Amino acid sequence: MQNLALCCRRCNERRYNFTVGIDPETQKEEPLFNPRTQRWSEHFIWSQDGVKIIGVTPTGRATCNRLDLNDERLGSQFIQQSRRLWVSVGWHPPEDDPIL
Ligand SMILES: [Zn+2]
Repeated sequence: MQNLALCCRRCNERRYNFTVGIDPETQKEEPLFNPRTQRWSEHFIWSQDGVKIIGVTPTGRATCNRLDLNDERLGSQFIQQSRRLWVSVGWHPPEDDPIL
C-alpha cells in the first residue's frame, strides 16, 4: 500500500511501470515525479493561460514527457481543450499552483 497515489487512468497507463523518463532539454534519463515524496509546485508550473503544465526541473520535464501531460503526442489535445474549458468557468488552475 505504500506505493499507492491517487491519479487518473490516463496518467496511470502512461506511467505504467516506468520510474524514469527523458528530459527533452538534456536528453538524459531522470526520475519521474513522485507525488508521495515530492511537491508538485517545485517541479511544475502552469502556462499563463492555465492550459499547459510546464516542467521546471529535470524531473518535471521528464514527467511531462513520459506522461504526455499536455496531450501533445496524439494530436487531439483533448486535455488542453478540457483545461481551457475549466479555465473559462474558473475551475482551473488550482489556486495554490504556481503559474508562469
Ligand atoms: Zn492524470
